[in-house]
Amino acid sequence: MHIMAKNVKQLKVEVRDIKQVKEDLFLLCFVSPHIAKTANPGNFVHIKIDSVILRRPLSIHKIVNDEVYILFKVKGRGTSALSNIRKGDYLDIIGPLGQGFNLPKYEIYNKMHNILIAGGIGVAPILFLAQKLNELGKGRLNIKNSILLGAGNKTDILYEDYFNKIGYKVEVATDDGSKGVKGFVTDILKNILAGIELEEVINIYACGPEGMFFEMNRVLKDYPKVYCQVSFEQFMGCGLGICCGCSVETKDGYKKVCKDGPVFNIKDVW
Ligand SMILES: Cc1cc2nc3c(=O)[nH]c(=O)nc-3n(C[C@H](O)[C@H](O)[C@H](O)COP(=O)(O)OP(=O)(O)OC[C@H]3O[C@@H](n4cnc5c(N)ncnc54)[C@H](O)[C@@H]3O)c2cc1C
Repeated sequence: MHIMAKNVKQLKVEVRDIKQVKEDLFLLCFVSPHIAKTANPGNFVHIKIDSVILRRPLSIHKIVNDEVYILFKVKGRGTSALSNIRKGDYLDIIGPLGQGFNLPKYEIYNKMHNILIAGGIGVAPILFLAQKLNELGKGRLNIKNSILLGAGNKTDILYEDYFNKIGYKVEVATDDGSKGVKGFVTDILKNILAGIELEEVINIYACGPEGMFFEMNRVLKDYPKVYCQVSFEQFMGCGLGICCGCSVETKDGYKKVCKDGPVFNIKDVW
């Protein structure tokens, strides 16, 4: 039985580097020409970690030549063990997995608004997406691209300077008001949408907590023409669509985050 999709492979990959970005956040780099060549934004890898039974899903964060980067937050036993991996160690991974973000066609890319939204660690796949969107522009920056970064406080806002540098208009919201708008990224989204002509093409791409998507969906009820894709995080078993452990309820019945997602059209969910 063919369980894995065409590009999906089980691979042994060498860790090139691991850096502690801050207290509970790590940037891991491994070498994989296959993942580097075939992965799309929103895809993830399923990583085997010795001390836990199930593999752990982590998004592809960045690709540079044949190096693949993963940005992860230590949550529990699996990610804690992963943070102890060292340069030169080998990882057993399966990937690239999942349905990633749909990217616009080059012909319309430079005329449209691309609004990227990252809640907390949700910035992990969004950075790879920003990288790919810029490649779509073939060297021409789209001045209508923006990114909204949301977090509990200013120390959890990541990559603000980086997104500025690659040509995105960056707007920040923190729960405690220590940086940017005091409140949620959805407050900023409401203002941005109110300032855009209704006939313009708007694509929204988001990753973050489900509560953020729910609120985004409420805002988007007033903008039926906006296309919005959201990347779900869910407890996951096999990662290959067999165990159904990661199912989410959609308007069209239960869907598997690992195989039908993790990226869904928000209108298909709520
Ligand atoms: C497609 C996909 C991509 C992901 N990409 C990233 C990424 O790039 N970076 C990153 O840091 N994390 C990402 N995650 C979440 C990551 O997989 C979990 O944090 C990780 O599996 C936790 O494993 P653990 O053993 O450390 O924690 P566990 O011991 O399994 O759990 C500890 C606590 O963490 C929370 N938790 C665990 N798994 C999840 C989950 N899947 N979603 C929400 N909360 C969870 C629960 O509150 C739980 O009590 C992604 C998840 C999915 C489904």
